[in-house]
Amino acid sequence: MLRDVLDRIDRGLPLGRQDLRTLLLAESPADHAAVIAKAGEIRKRQLGNTVYLRGLIEVSNICAKDCYYCGIRKSNPGIVRYQMSEQEVLEEAEWIWCQRFGSLVLQGGENTSSEFIALIERLVRAIRDLSHGELGITLSMGEQSEATYRRWLAAGAHRYLLRIETSDPKLYSQIHPRDPAHSWETRRDCLRRLRDVGYQVGTGVMIGLPFQTVDDLVDDLVFFQEMDIDMIGMGPYVIHHETPLAKMAPEFSARKKEEQLCLALRMIAAARILLPDVNIATATALQALRDDGRDQGIQAGANVIMPNVTETRYRRSYQLYDNKPGLDDAGGETWDRIRTRIEALGYTIGYNQWGDSQHFHRRQPKS
Ligand code: SAH
Repeated sequence: MLRDVLDRIDRGLPLGRQDLRTLLLAESPADHAAVIAKAGEIRKRQLGNTVYLRGLIEVSNICAKDCYYCGIRKSNPGIVRYQMSEQEVLEEAEWIWCQRFGSLVLQGGENTSSEFIALIERLVRAIRDLSHGELGITLSMGEQSEATYRRWLAAGAHRYLLRIETSDPKLYSQIHPRDPAHSWETRRDCLRRLRDVGYQVGTGVMIGLPFQTVDDLVDDLVFFQEMDIDMIGMGPYVIHHETPLAKMAPEFSARKKEEQLCLALRMIAAARILLPDVNIATATALQALRDDGRDQGIQAGANVIMPNVTETRYRRSYQLYDNKPGLDDAGGETWDRIRTRIEALGYTIGYNQWGDSQHFHRRQPKS
């Protein structure tokens, strides 16, 4: 019963798989609202009502991977491939800094070429210098060698996002090509490597994938806990019409957007309840399902938002899924809208702050 689980939470008792399952299955409007409210309460108690910003720059859509769900997969011939110039990236970084965002994220397709690795290293260093070390720098560049992770850390990056996509190796193999370039174990090992090297580590999953069960989602939550993760970025799976997964599971397209959104929101809420001191980002994909989806993510317990500041002319080429929001917005427009909404909901924006994961600092050995 949901009431018993909420009661366990109030009494500070540990939650088991069955409890997490109950939270995720709380589908009736009243139960759903109770789960979201509980997560909101915990977030407020643990983290206050500050929302931290990370300006997102989509540096390149050139990708070596062929993930069955993703619009920028290598085998999609329907998109123009781009790589932003150093100057373009630095201009956006400067804008983010001037807006007092506190942090930025450089994200891109997976590229392990030595030119690309050196480019990211130069960019990280230049961003650190132009902001006098004030901007927090997060990278999201997929699976790389330990040496590369170390180089980027030494240049000044300190957080890394690498979604495991699903904690179930079998489901992973259903949504990726079965070849050594798409190995669940390698991805998990990268998460361990990032942690050993010294990053604040973020991971996440797609919620509501074809073939995915509620028990898979419970396992995902336990995976975050067992991997002792610092940050979570997860959002609903959203179809991209030109991908194999859209064709493999046609009946899936019929699933209602609203159901998909609500499941994702309960997953965020369950993560907040289970792991009160981690940072959780509200995913842009929530907004692909409903105009105010990202705001709802904050109300469900997320404390980080990543406004897209990528130059408008590149946005169309970085569509991971259909219906990506803000395609024609200038960076400033997306941000104005986000700011107005966050403030209207009664949250405070953490200007000029890194907004590190409390969990990360807690797990550092005390000196
Ligand atoms: N190459 C980087 C990051 C780019 S993709 C990396 O490997 O980490 C960023 C994230 O977008 C992916 O981790 C995936 O979870 C998400 N994504 C891709 N296609 C999606 C889709 N159709 N629906 C929802 N999320 C998707």
